[in-house]
Amino acid sequence: MKRQYQFESLLQENSLVHGVSQKAIDENLFFSLALHTKENKEAIVSNRKKLASSFGDKDYYFVVANQTHSSTIKIIEESAFRGWNSLDDAIEDCDALLTKQRGVILTVLTADCVPILLYDRGQEVVGVIHAGWRGTEEQIASKTIAMIQKKFNSNPKDIIVGIAPAIGACCYEVEEDVASHFFEYPQALNKRKNKYDLDLRLINQLQLLASGIPKENIQMSGICTACSVESYFSYRREGGCSGRFMSMIGLQ
Ligand SMILES: [Zn+2]
Repeated sequence: MKRQYQFESLLQENSLVHGVSQKAIDENLFFSLALHTKENKEAIVSNRKKLASSFGDKDYYFVVANQTHSSTIKIIEESAFRGWNSLDDAIEDCDALLTKQRGVILTVLTADCVPILLYDRGQEVVGVIHAGWRGTEEQIASKTIAMIQKKFNSNPKDIIVGIAPAIGACCYEVEEDVASHFFEYPQALNKRKNKYDLDLRLINQLQLLASGIPKENIQMSGICTACSVESYFSYRREGGCSGRFMSMIGLQ
């Protein structure tokens, strides 16, 4: 298996495991990890087994949600696989996950949308967020920080965040019908004739800053999936591909 992308800031935390899978041309389906895009199920489950073994000898429970571009946040309180070997027991209709359970790895599947990993060093809570344009419009990042404060009494100043590879403004041209949802973030929109370049990564960063997370606590990968299509799936660059890569975080 190809190496994973990792964040320097998260790597420094001894109680964490995390990573972002990358494409591999010598693996089945380029190492796609999604069961919901109708690729061969056995191949995906086999890829997932390989991925799990890359986290060492310890057995982790992986949790996958059925992502629906919602702003629904679920808290995982049990140590069990969900949505890992089958879609049937995935967390329903959900785009952000939080847990305090050790040995549970939360996941998010993307191919251009913004995957966000977070860790509260104070209360020892981890989380993942899936923010496409609809989730970004719904402020799922801000809502997740509000939820972690409410449920776990977290202080935003203790939260560190990694914004994983996602499509950049360089490659994300949208029509006014999408851009109009983000006019309150002029710094994330570049108008060219009747179209706009939209920076969803920046908008999510701005939402996290507004939630009280210090700027130095937010690490951006800076990688555009469409520019780096040899390493990451890009729905837009690959013309609606079915491949997805996985961003993951858990407490050891
Ligand atoms: Zn790009």
